[in-house]
Amino acid sequence: MIPRTIFTPEHEAFRDTVRRFIETEVTPHHADWEKAGQVPRSLWTKAGELGLLCVNAPEAYGGQGADFLYSAILIEEMARAGATGPTFYLHSDIVAPYLVDFGTEAQKSKWLPRMATGEVVVALGMSEPSGGSDVQNIRTQAIRDGDEYVINGQKVFTTNGHSADLLLLACKTDPTQKAKGVSMILVETDSPGFSRGRKLEKIGCKAQDTSELFFSDLRVPASNLLGTEGGGFAILMTQLAQERLIQAIRAVSASEAALEWTLAYAVERKMFGQTLADFQNTRFSLANLHAQVLAQRVFVDRCMLLHAEGKLDAVDAASCKLVTTDLQFKVMDECLQFFGGWGYMWEYPIARAFADARMCRIGGGTAEVMKQIIANSLLPRVRKV
Ligand SMILES: Cc1cc2nc3c(=O)[nH]c(=O)nc-3n(C[C@H](O)[C@H](O)[C@H](O)COP(=O)(O)OP(=O)(O)OC[C@H]3O[C@@H](n4cnc5c(N)ncnc54)[C@H](O)[C@@H]3O)c2cc1C
Repeated sequence: MIPRTIFTPEHEAFRDTVRRFIETEVTPHHADWEKAGQVPRSLWTKAGELGLLCVNAPEAYGGQGADFLYSAILIEEMARAGATGPTFYLHSDIVAPYLVDFGTEAQKSKWLPRMATGEVVVALGMSEPSGGSDVQNIRTQAIRDGDEYVINGQKVFTTNGHSADLLLLACKTDPTQKAKGVSMILVETDSPGFSRGRKLEKIGCKAQDTSELFFSDLRVPASNLLGTEGGGFAILMTQLAQERLIQAIRAVSASEAALEWTLAYAVERKMFGQTLADFQNTRFSLANLHAQVLAQRVFVDRCMLLHAEGKLDAVDAASCKLVTTDLQFKVMDECLQFFGGWGYMWEYPIARAFADARMCRIGGGTAEVMKQIIANSLLPRVRKV
């Protein structure tokens, strides 16, 4: 096997901590959380106590100033364990970086330390019933009124929506504009005018709460604006490489785990006087999947390293997300087949992983949007020739 060379011994020590945390605090309870449709708040505070949240945030704001590879380890290990409930990556590696990079001193000191302890859980509200891909045309409005913004509208599919204390909300502050009318606003969920709708029933990722959110004449101080008014779309663009890389890390790690489960099952399962692993069909199919996942592992590791050095661009990250999530679904489908009827039973991790994987070609930017980003970067080059 091609050795992985991107992690230091310190990273690997952190991985040991993460694995112990998952073995004791996550895996034994995940099936119950799937039934509840969310994880308990105590999981967040336990993760906070162990220093697993917001590790990249500066120490002055409760983080550890650690490099992105520490985050990647937590993301990898959660994906390997099939633990879709603890959405720490959304909290620590998607929302927190916006605060770190664009928050005022007051916003950072108020929120980041409590996010790092797990006392505050955050969510990101961009998608609306009228559309998730086309963020420029969102309808939720935040209209300035003196020293406040008045927010009216609706979000949907919001991960952590049911449990969040703080929302980072994409709103139109100037409805006459497209991208330049979008602003990012921090909204506390105990504000009058905020209500949560249904905890949506999903076909996978069942232990994470995914919700509808409603805003009716909700007032926030103008100081809750993140960055500049009208600068929200540009702010969102700054994190695209990291967001897509996170999905790619999850995808390739989940694929590796599914292959391991399937190999273990195939050597045990007996039929026709031999094991499932003895059939040439099994051997060739698993060999084929292994080779493809291995190639993607090298690609993802390279992208992780580039990202840790601040050099990964959004187009390469889109390519990485596109191919890894496509392969993830193929791996889950083909691996599930080897489990026969058991593969269709929820009690088997491969069944859950199959359902979970379907989301990855939709969430965090759809496969089609990834293709659009990649094509936009390719075509001008060809046209110039
Ligand atoms: C489990 C889950 C969790 C989620 N969590 C969050 C969250 O925390 N916060 C949040 O804001 N959103 C979240 N989402 C929403 C997710 O980001 C959107 O579902 C996604 O962006 C697609 O938006 P949409 O569902 O409105 O589909 P649409 O945007 O309506 O797309 C419908 C179809 O049109 C295609 N399409 C769109 N644009 C193009 C194009 N340019 N060219 C060709 N085809 C195109 C899409 O690929 C798709 O196939 C989550 C979704 C899921 C399923």
